[in-house]
Amino acid sequence: MRGVVFDGAGRVRVVDLPDPTVEAPGDAIVRVTRAGICGSDLHLLHGKAPLEVGEPMGHEATGVVETVGPDVRGVREGDRVAVAFNVACGHCWFCEHGQSALCDDDAIFGYGIFGGALPGAQAERLRVPNADVNLLRIPDAVDDDAAVFVGDVLTTGFYAAALADPRPEDAVAVLGCGPVGHCTILGLRATGRPTVYALDRDADRLALAEKAGAIPIDVDRRNAVTALAEATDGRGADVVIDAVGHPEAFEGAIDAVRRGGTVVVVGVYSSETTELQLGAYWARALTLRFAGLTPVLAWWDRAVSSLENGSVDPRPLISHRLPLEDAAEGYALFDRREATKVVLAP
Ligand code: NAD
Ligand code: ZN
Repeated sequence: MRGVVFDGAGRVRVVDLPDPTVEAPGDAIVRVTRAGICGSDLHLLHGKAPLEVGEPMGHEATGVVETVGPDVRGVREGDRVAVAFNVACGHCWFCEHGQSALCDDDAIFGYGIFGGALPGAQAERLRVPNADVNLLRIPDAVDDDAAVFVGDVLTTGFYAAALADPRPEDAVAVLGCGPVGHCTILGLRATGRPTVYALDRDADRLALAEKAGAIPIDVDRRNAVTALAEATDGRGADVVIDAVGHPEAFEGAIDAVRRGGTVVVVGVYSSETTELQLGAYWARALTLRFAGLTPVLAWWDRAVSSLENGSVDPRPLISHRLPLEDAAEGYALFDRREATKVVLAP
């Protein structure tokens, strides 16, 4: 089969890979119909995690179950499914407490040894371990373009919104309006309905955020701290969500939150460092909430039902639908922010 692999910092390639087979009785093989390119893949593209040349990439997929191992009960051949981007065992203490991303056996598709050396989802087929818990059946009313958001980005947005836990009178600032920031805005608008400010420097992404009900702030034209202070009688935002994953964004979030406010960090960090001003954080009584990877298993039902009842629609984010063979172009477009979301169709 064909699949995307890392080809050294800044490069990916589509190559022939062995067809996946059932390796454990709980495995399923999924024929991938859509695979997303994620901001997290850009961290890998930029060489921030220890990926070797030739290792498979991609963790966002939806598709059709093609084969199941003898122990699989929850899905059958022919089922349309979403794939959880981080797979879990489903029965350890963490899984039972809604924290599947902290599972004893946690692993991520397409993330090299850092992710447990699982295969990549940007491929024609994907072997999914422990399929009973890591696959979710998709209702007919939800098409493939919407379903590809279930295993990661939309569910991540709902999770981030829940961590923010705003009151209706709160001002929430979402730093970064990529697919994750956008879906966080969708999650915030669906629950709690605070006033949401969307911060980015990309005009297309800000326009999409405005359509989703947020108030856009272009950080290249306005000082984010001043703009948010002006909107809140000088206080600053009640909650700031870092949906970027860059120390500059983390520091910006700390600067923009009010005294006693909360910063939620959903952007991914690996080896980055920043200086913590303990006294300032302490005196300002800040709450810092690191999201970690999204516990998809605890949150994806909500994402699917919102898609099914039409209360959210992330599909306008998709700016490019490309054949799998054009993955390198898709990565380049997304990396240059010329694409908002690239979805590959193997
Ligand atoms: P993306 O790269 O498309 O989006 C990042 C956006 O931030 C861009 O639009 C960029 O213009 C904007 N930006 C950069 N610096 C900024 C700044 N200082 N102020 C305001 N905006 C700024 O990526 P994405 O797919 O939306 O993902 C965003 C982050 O979320 C990444 O770090 C990704 O790894 C992470 N993520 C986390 C999880 C999780 O499980 N916690 C899941 C998926 C993605
Ligand atoms: Zn992702």
